[in-house]
Parts: sequence; C-alpha cells; structure tokens
Amino acid sequence: MRGFDKDSIIFYPINGQLVPMHIRYIKGSRHVTLNLTMGSVYCSVGSKLSEKEFKQAIENILGRLRKPSIEEYVFQPMLDWPKRQVWYLGRKRRIDPDGDPDDPDVFIAPRDSKNFAREFDCQAIEYIRGMIESEAARVGIEVPESYSVKLGRYMSKYASYRASDHLFEFDRRLLAFQPIVIRSVVDHEICHIVRSPHDRQFYAWLYALMDRHTYWTSRRILTTGRFDKLPD
Ligand SMILES: [Zn+2]
Repeated sequence: MRGFDKDSIIFYPINGQLVPMHIRYIKGSRHVTLNLTMGSVYCSVGSKLSEKEFKQAIENILGRLRKPSIEEYVFQPMLDWPKRQVWYLGRKRRIDPDGDPDDPDVFIAPRDSKNFAREFDCQAIEYIRGMIESEAARVGIEVPESYSVKLGRYMSKYASYRASDHLFEFDRRLLAFQPIVIRSVVDHEICHIVRSPHDRQFYAWLYALMDRHTYWTSRRILTTGRFDKLPD
C-alpha cells in the first residue's frame, strides 16, 4: 500500500472529524480489519490493496456497524500530553505537579512523561485494587491473597483474570471513564475468580454485583469511548 510501508497513524474523516487511525500493515494480504474501542480505531491493512480499495473497505465496514453506530463514537484520546491534560475517572484533568490534591480538575503527577506513566500506573493500580476488594466483599467473593494488578494497552480486551497466578490485567484507558463504568469491568473480572466461562452462573454472580442494564450500557460507553458519560 502506497504511503503505509510500516505501522503508522493516519488521519481519516469519520463523522466530519479527522480521526487518528492506527495502521498495521499486513504483507501479502488483501484484507482490512477495523478494531474500534475506547475512543481509538486500529486498522490492519493488506499490502495488496490499492489506496482506493482500502478506503472503500473502510467505508463498507463503518457503514455496516450497527449498535453502536459510528455516530456514537467519540475518538478522544485519554492523554493529551502537549496540553498536559488527562482523562481520569470521568473528568478531564490538568496535569499539575504543584496542584491542589483536593482539586478534582487536577491530576498530580511529575512534569516529564516518563515519570508520569509510572506515577499514573501507581495511582490507577491503587484505585483498581480498592475497587476489586470492596466489590468482592459485597458478594462474598474471596480474592486470593497473592493477587496482582497490571496495567497495559490491549487491542482485544478491556481486562482479564488469570487463575493460575491470580493476575488481573486492565487496559490503562479504562481509568479515563466514570467510576461506575470502570466498576462494570472490575465486577466482570472478579466473577472470573469463582467462574471461568461466561455461562449462566457467571452472569448470576455478575448481575448480583451490577444490574443488567447498568452493566450493558457501561459496555456501550466503553466501546464508544465516551469518558464523561454515565450509564442511563
Ligand atoms: Zn470474561
């Protein structure tokens, strides 16, 4: 494909705005796949496609999206480093090392981006651990004492729980959302402590923690990347 000989970001018009699209280039293929989640769009593009075919494939995929349709996606980044802004717990906050810790519009973190990431993960993991423990206690799920929480950036999951070593993994971008939306993911993962497959018993545990409607509207908010939105 002309212009995309390695992984890159292009700006693509969606809903009248130019949306950053993360492109992965697949050698020898004619396929296009789109992964839309949490206000980001990832695209795998086969190298055998012309630019016209590529654009046509994207339009077809976007046009076929049903619930939620493309109009509902927000495509806002969690972190705008040049502007020193970060979405955290459903609020856009100013990154300010000298800010007032009680100011909800401020995120206290170091000025440089390297230490910012470390500090962000520390705060986020502490927050998630608190939520895991309080949620599990509500329905009497016993969290293994040796459990750990890791943050990362994932393409195909919001979170996971691995029973063999009691490891929870969460996508860092979850922290941008409202606490109740984060909770829908935490509740899901702690139910995996007692039940591995997504069967009736699993959902019985889950709906004891969060009612069905709130859970599924939270999932929709996650898909569309609307950090400030509460489930209705
Ligand atoms: Zn699951």
